[in-house]
Amino acid sequence: MNFIDQSIQLYAEQHTSEESHLLKNINRDTHAKVLMPRMLSGHFQGRILSMISHMIKPKHILEIGTYTGYSALCLAEGLHQDGRLTTIDINEELEDYVRTHINKAGLTTKINFIIGDALQVIPTLKETFDLVFMDADKENYGEYIDVVINKTRLGGFILADNVLWSGKVLRDNQDKDTISIINFNQKIQQDKRVENVLLPIRDGIMIMRKVSL
Ligand code: SAH
Ligand code: CA
Repeated sequence: MNFIDQSIQLYAEQHTSEESHLLKNINRDTHAKVLMPRMLSGHFQGRILSMISHMIKPKHILEIGTYTGYSALCLAEGLHQDGRLTTIDINEELEDYVRTHINKAGLTTKINFIIGDALQVIPTLKETFDLVFMDADKENYGEYIDVVINKTRLGGFILADNVLWSGKVLRDNQDKDTISIINFNQKIQQDKRVENVLLPIRDGIMIMRKVSL
């Protein structure tokens, strides 16, 4: 997970705005009560998502992989005043937990939370998105980009998280998820529909801008 010198990372975090009380509580509570809390974006990445969203002021955001809602609330901070965020997760067990967080944030009318398999749900969505955050099952990243790109406006942005996969993309002896991520990164590098930058932040974020239909 740590590509950057730990003391430099700590320094960067100490010079990054704090998360809200609600986000801090979700972070803490997820670590105490939910399986695999490592998946949560957390303070530093959450502030990056919020900042990027503020830069774009999107009217429509799509998130694939809600988990406990942390990154959805961060992305929603930058929504245009008439904007809405759609977030999809396949895990119905977390539904009540996530809805409680959305309501506490006062975002009940701004966030459309859908339980289902993202690959089935996305083609049914009516919106054209200005910003997409891909953060669900890594083995489907290659397929997500193809369904998502058709729903993204020209000039819109797509972020894909965990594209360095703890550095495993450079190791021999790769497992299934690692191979999927490697194939995804190669696919994006060759894809004429997007311009892309792989940011070596946290676990790696691929930023893509849709430049052609
Ligand atoms: N974005 C969250 C973390 C997401 S963890 C954050 O940053 O805090 C990944 C999530 O993807 C899990 O909650 C998992 O249930 C969900 N997921 C896995 N496969 C999926 C699928 N096919 N469709 C939708 N969600 C899926
Ligand atoms: Ca992630």
